[in-house]
Amino acid sequence: MNRINVMKPWLGTEEAEALASVIESGWVAQGPRVAEFETRFADAAGALFAVATSNCTTALHLALVVAGIGPGDDVVVPSFSFIATANAPTYVGARPVFADVDPVTGNVTADTLLDALTPATRAVIVVDQGGVPVDLDPIRAALDPLGIVVIEDAACGAGSTYRGHPVGAGAELTAWSFHPRKLLTTGEGGMLTTANSEWAERARRLREHAMSVSANARHASVLSPPEEYLEVGFNYRMTDLQAAVGIVQLGRLAEIVARRREIVADYARDLDGVHGLRLVADPPWGTANFQSFWIEVLPDFPLDRDALLARLADDGISARRGIMAAHRQPAYAGRDTGDADLSATERLTDTTLILPVFHQFTADERGRVVASVRSAARRAVA
Ligand SMILES: *Cc1c(COP(=O)(O)O)cnc(C)c1O
Repeated sequence: MNRINVMKPWLGTEEAEALASVIESGWVAQGPRVAEFETRFADAAGALFAVATSNCTTALHLALVVAGIGPGDDVVVPSFSFIATANAPTYVGARPVFADVDPVTGNVTADTLLDALTPATRAVIVVDQGGVPVDLDPIRAALDPLGIVVIEDAACGAGSTYRGHPVGAGAELTAWSFHPRKLLTTGEGGMLTTANSEWAERARRLREHAMSVSANARHASVLSPPEEYLEVGFNYRMTDLQAAVGIVQLGRLAEIVARRREIVADYARDLDGVHGLRLVADPPWGTANFQSFWIEVLPDFPLDRDALLARLADDGISARRGIMAAHRQPAYAGRDTGDADLSATERLTDTTLILPVFHQFTADERGRVVASVRSAARRAVA
C-alpha cells in the first residue's frame, strides 16, 4: 500500500530548465531573476512593491523593523499559527501578545484583536490561516484610528482572494512564504509586499546587509562604486536559483489553486452525510486556496482527533494535526503574552486535522482517504 502524503510540491521540467539556465549564466546569487520575480509577484499580488527574502520568517522580521517596532512595544498575533508569527516580534525585542481566533475560520477578527490589545500595542500580525482569507476591512477600520500597523502573514495565502482581490493587498505590509508546504515553492523563500516606497526601499537594503549599493549594481560596473553600510542589516537574500523556480511556479498559481479547490469540492461531496465532522470552507468575504484542508472532529464523531489520525495512519494516510497553538509551546508557555481568552484556539488546535491535498492527488487516493474516514465513523459506532 502506497503512503499518501499530506502535501507534495508540483515541480517539473520547466523548473529544472529554468535552474539550468541560471547555472549556465554564471550568476546564481541575488540578481536579475530575483528582480524579475519581484516584479511579477508584485503584479500578481496587487502590490506596488515586492522585496524577495530568504523565507517568510525573515520577511516578517523586516516588516516589523521597517514599521519601527522594537523593545517596549507589543505586537498582537494569533497563537493559532505556525510559531514564526510569534517569533518575529520577539526578534525585534517586542512582546508577542496572543489573540484568539474565530472558531469557524481559524482567523483573528477585529473583536479578538481588540480583546487582546494592550496600551503598548503598536502593530498586529493577522494570518490567512491555511489559506482562508482574513476579514481585513473591519480590522483596518478598528485599528487604523489607533495608529496600529496591520501586517499580514500571508505565508499560506498565495492565490486566495479577499473581496475580489488577491489577499495581502489590503495590509500595510504582507509577508509570503515559498516553503514546499505552501502552494508555490522555491525550496525556501519569501517575499515582503507593501505600497509604502520608503519601507520597501529600506527592506531592500536591510536584506542585503544595509549596503548602499546592491551587489547587482556593483556587478554592473567595472569599477564598482564604494558602498556604505547605513545601519545594521541582515543577509536575508533570495538567490537567482530560487527566483528562477519561483517565476515558473508563479505562472502555475491559477492552475494550482483551481486544482486544489476542485479536490476540496470533491472531498466535501464524498464526506457529505458523515456525522460529526466540519470541513473548512470559503468564508462569505472571499475564496480560500485551501493550502491546508482541515476538518474539525466534533464531539458527536465517534472518535477523537488523535484516534482518527491513528486510523488514517493505519491506512497509510499521512494526515496531520491541525494548526498549532504557540502559547502552549515551551518557547512561550512561561512568558507573559497577555491575558486574552484563547478558548477557540485551544479547541481548534485539539480537534482539527489536515487531510492530504496536492496537485497530483488522484481520485483513487481521495477514495482511500474518504473510505478510511467513513469506516472510522462507522466501526467506532458498533
Ligand atoms: C509557513 C509559515 C510561516 C513561515 O514561513 P517560512 O517561509 O518557512 O519562514 C510563517 N507563518 C505562517 C502562518 C506559516 O504557515
